[in-house]
Amino acid sequence: MKLFKRILRYLDPISHLGTVNYSFIFPLLSNVTLSILSEIFAYGIAKNPMIVGSYIIFINVAFIIYFAFRDGLKGGITSVVITICYYFYIIQTRHYTGQQLNAAIETTFVLAALYLGVAGIIGWLKQTIDKLIERESDEKNRLQTIVQQLPVGIIITNERGVIVQTNKQLETILGMKMPLGVVAGKDKVITALQDDKPVQASKSPLATALFTGKAVKDKEFVIERPDGKKAYIIVNASAIHNKSGKVIAAVSIITDITEKKEMELRKDDFVNMASHELKTPITSLKLYVELMHQQLKDFKGEKTTKILHSVSKQVHRLQDLVNDMLDVSRLQTGKLSFNKEKCELNNLIEENISELQGTTNQQPILFKKTQPVSVYADTFRISQVLINLITNASKYSPAGSDIEIKLRKEDNQAIISVKDHGIGIEKDQQKKIFERLYQVSGDKEKTFPGLGMGLYISQEIIKRHKGDIWVESEKGTGSTFYFSLPLYQK
Ligand code: ADP
Repeated sequence: MKLFKRILRYLDPISHLGTVNYSFIFPLLSNVTLSILSEIFAYGIAKNPMIVGSYIIFINVAFIIYFAFRDGLKGGITSVVITICYYFYIIQTRHYTGQQLNAAIETTFVLAALYLGVAGIIGWLKQTIDKLIERESDEKNRLQTIVQQLPVGIIITNERGVIVQTNKQLETILGMKMPLGVVAGKDKVITALQDDKPVQASKSPLATALFTGKAVKDKEFVIERPDGKKAYIIVNASAIHNKSGKVIAAVSIITDITEKKEMELRKDDFVNMASHELKTPITSLKLYVELMHQQLKDFKGEKTTKILHSVSKQVHRLQDLVNDMLDVSRLQTGKLSFNKEKCELNNLIEENISELQGTTNQQPILFKKTQPVSVYADTFRISQVLINLITNASKYSPAGSDIEIKLRKEDNQAIISVKDHGIGIEKDQQKKIFERLYQVSGDKEKTFPGLGMGLYISQEIIKRHKGDIWVESEKGTGSTFYFSLPLYQK
């Protein structure tokens, strides 16, 4: 059966499309065999040498077309040459004379021209098609090689989500081969975690891109590899549309960020350790300074009190910094916890203002009390956000300018705003200032101390209260920072 199939494939001219090594032996042998068989038939079976001419022309034409289609110009012309030689052999062996001989020779020449025309056109067509097919498969191979050697992991699915191609880098990242034929969104091959929770197969970026037709950008996951190691990856996925907008495939690009992530974790560990180590001595330092302040206040001069006051202020700043560092590392490790309770915002704002009023740059903090507005929140942490916004407002605006705080209800939200008339923030920086350790790097901003942790911590605190934080600002005019919190529900 197998042999039969192989023979069929060998004979089938269609299966030779796209292959450019044209045979010359097979057409030669076939045509010679045909001529010999025809002679055997004429002399041995039909016993009439003159019978040959009437059928052989059809068989020859068929052979020429077949071989031109199977083996291009080489096959076609070989067939023509053998056929014409055979015709001359017939003329020779049938002993034509006179007019008959002339007519036979003439006909042979006409047939030769006709056969060459047929072989030439079909052979040329066949070779042109082969070249086109070859070029296309070259292109395909080139793309395949590029995909294979890309330094990122690649998964390509068809329109139904069936994985049709992956590459070597994907195997390296996952620590295993991703089997082809697996269906994205259905079959689960790897365990991916996002925020420590396993991601369902139907929520994978590839499935999302495929189902929604939209791109999924920069999603971070942790992969549990079969060798027990963890891999940190960033995934981008996109659905591919054809010209009429139909999804025809989906592609996922997986970037390994394990090394970078581990480095970040080591840095976070270091910050965590350092801030813990610093916390205790600073607390004692603060206590001692306050004690000294108390004891020396009554009988030493004004100068000493002033110096001690400065020391106490610096220790206070140091403590704030260390507390911020600790909060950042708690946020990174998910260890920041909240004690939520019912909390009235007018009171909370007033308490914080009276605490801060003395410390701001002689900037009056204005606030008009409203009807009671209650939220369910961690009072200490919300105060931290408010203090951060007010101290920033004071830090980034000139002495004497007002800082206005407003409170209002909107839909089911309480919205607090802190407005200053300071240096303002460029539009393109307004999102970035909420990132960890981000500081605006203009000439004006450089003169202000800080580490860029405050707004990041504030944003995380507000997010974990299911609220939002944002800024409206114009460079040179001032900024208004807003944060919202869901209202307290009885
Ligand atoms: P820090 O103030 O310690 O640098 P923050 O996270 O509180 O860190 O603020 C991040 C950056 O946002 C600041 O460095 C500053 O450039 C900008 N910024 C914050 N508040 C204001 C404000 N009220 N006016 C102008 N710029 C501000």
